[in-house]
Amino acid sequence: MAHDHDHDHEHDHDVEPDEDAQERAEKDARRQLALAQIRQYGDPSLRLKANEVVEFDDDLRRLVERMIALMHDAQGVGLAATQVGILRRVFVYEPDEEGPRALVNPVVAERGEESASDEEGCLSLQGVRVPVERATRIVLEGKDEHGADVHVELDEYAARVVQHELDHLDGVLILDRTDDEHRKEALATLRPRAVLR
Ligand SMILES: [Zn+2]
Repeated sequence: MAHDHDHDHEHDHDVEPDEDAQERAEKDARRQLALAQIRQYGDPSLRLKANEVVEFDDDLRRLVERMIALMHDAQGVGLAATQVGILRRVFVYEPDEEGPRALVNPVVAERGEESASDEEGCLSLQGVRVPVERATRIVLEGKDEHGADVHVELDEYAARVVQHELDHLDGVLILDRTDDEHRKEALATLRPRAVLR
């Protein structure tokens, strides 16, 4: 009576872990491929100020599409154009279940008075996590990739994510926002050869 049931049960156990492992390996491979297309620390474009977007054309929409795909593959929650070597004021972000969004020419309309410190990583600074103090609430205004006005009010994690991406458009990295001790540690991670000689 129990034979078929047991068989199915074993079958499930045999197959599912393998599928998970394969899926994980594929995700890892996609992540590595994406990271290879994202500018890494030391690349000068990460330190430059991006320019205002003037034309809301197919070129811009293709850029946004490519950045969203890279963000997904890299398993990130945000990506700025400077991180792909494009000096335009555009970033994409997805801090929650509401799907990926793009913000073009973003400006801070309002910054909450309260701030909090939490660890942040960056797709351009692999292996680094440092505490960064950010406003817990922020209001941004800008455009979407079609040129329509966008007004977003964000708090907590989402507010942190967009402030991080906004920094990228001005050539600012989390290294500039953390304390001396964590900066030193992070630089040792990013420049192992300089330390080892
Ligand atoms: Zn970053």
